[in-house]
Formats: sequence, C-alpha cells, structure tokens
Amino acid sequence: MLKIGCHLSTEGGYLSMGERIASVGGDTFQYFTKNPKGGNRNFKKPDPADVEALRVFLTERGMTMPLAHAPYTYNPCSANEEVRRYSCDSMHDELLFLEALPGSLYNFHPGCHTGQGVDVGVDYISDMLNHVLWDGMHTTVLLETMAGKGTELGRSFEELRRIIDRVDEGLRGSVGVCFDTCHVSDAGYDIIGDLDGVLREFDRVVGIDRIRAIHLNDSMNPPASRKDRHAKIGEGFIGFPAITNIITHPCLRDLPFYLETPNELEGYGKEIALLKGVSAECEQK
Ligand code: FE
Ligand code: FE
Ligand code: ZN
Repeated sequence: MLKIGCHLSTEGGYLSMGERIASVGGDTFQYFTKNPKGGNRNFKKPDPADVEALRVFLTERGMTMPLAHAPYTYNPCSANEEVRRYSCDSMHDELLFLEALPGSLYNFHPGCHTGQGVDVGVDYISDMLNHVLWDGMHTTVLLETMAGKGTELGRSFEELRRIIDRVDEGLRGSVGVCFDTCHVSDAGYDIIGDLDGVLREFDRVVGIDRIRAIHLNDSMNPPASRKDRHAKIGEGFIGFPAITNIITHPCLRDLPFYLETPNELEGYGKEIALLKGVSAECEQK
C-alpha cells in the first residue's frame, strides 16, 4: 500500500498536523522545523505534551513518523563561517528535539558552495554531519537531491556520494537521501523516459538503499532546466504516466512519498486519493 502524505504548516501545533493529514487520507506528512522565511533565528522547542500527543496519535493508527524539513536559511557549505556555525548548531538542536518522535526523518538541502567550489563544499557538509550525528540516534538524516540552481550542491549523484563517503563510518547508517522528482528531472536525469536507467545509475553511484524518502512533485520546467519550480501532479513536464511509474517502481514503492506541490490541504487530499487509486490498481494487476 502506497504510503503518502504532504507538506503541512506547523501552525496549530503538532497533534493538529496528525489530525489534518488523517482527515485527507494521508499516512504521513512533512513540516518545517521552523518558519522557513527567517523570523525567529533560533529553534523554538515545541510543547512536549503536544509532540507526545502526535507520537501517540501516529503510533495508534500505524502511521509513518513524519519528515522534518530544515529551513532554507541553513547553508552548511557557505563561505561565511558564521552561517556554517549557525546551520550546524541549529541542526543539532533540532535533531536532539526529534528524539521525542523516534523514527523521524530529517531532510536538508546540502547547500550552496557560493563560489568556493565543489570540493570545499563537500568537505564542509560532511564535517557538519560528523558534528551533528551521534551513535544511537533515532532519526535518519537525508540529503535532498537538488535541481542545481546557481552553486547548489547535490545536483549530481556523484556529489551526494562524495558527501556520504566522508561521513564517519560509524555514523553513516543514519544518513540517507531524499529523492525529489522535480529536482532530479530539472537536474537532467531522464526520469520521464528512462526511470530504470536513472535508478540503476543511482544504485551504481550511491546505492539504492540510501533513498529513504521521495518528494513527489511535478515540474513547471522541462528536464535539465536547473530551475526548481514545483507543479501539481500531472500538470507539469514530468506528467502523470511518469509519476505513476515512480510510485509503482519496485525499488521505490515501499518508501514514504511526500507531496510538495502548490496546494492547500484540500488539493493535497485530491492528489493523495488520485495516487492511492492508481497505486492500488497497479497492485491488482
Ligand atoms: Fe527541500
Ligand atoms: Fe523537495
Ligand atoms: Zn524544490
């Protein structure tokens, strides 16, 4: 059975996110650990009773623990040391908090090397991971595949591999990849015409088991555009047939899927129902 949810706002609290996703038939959800558009710089710890109520709610219903998304203001490979330290300290605080929701995923953008070059960027990102991860943690930290705007790292599978390789061996088990379908297409991988080939390439370079979550988005731009503008499912250049291949692919279908399409809750509910219907149809065949 397809496990799918969408991005939700934390406004209203943690338990409320569980209730909202259940109300539209979803199995899991994604949220920002703090307001992505600046505002409060430091991580404000949520009310522990509210977080525990969410944990109980999800556990009782057999739902999947959510995916926490780091704010866009983090840049672990910035040339500015202050920005790097802020990103590292904040991420550590958030990962400590996530122990209250064991089994969580935590996704971040590898960042922009801002002109220093890929080698320096890769070193900074893995240095940060070596600082914020610890042995025995209950969260898996995911590097997101990126579209490759500007100096963004993580556009190519090779860059992801290099970051993971520099993480201490004892910590590497807590590191995975979040495969964003809009970004991967915008990055120039042909998931429309040759999904099998792209996944074989990912397996060869990174290892297919590193993929722990999918951001399921259509793209407003053609393949290899390096733009990163998400479209509703079936309304972009990826299109519905390719999206169907993705959610039913044997290497991917058991992973949790997260919609980040331009929708409010009601629109997300429609996409969840549509995709669950297609996945169930394919399972019967
Ligand atoms: Fe993201
Ligand atoms: Fe994404
Ligand atoms: Zn995106």
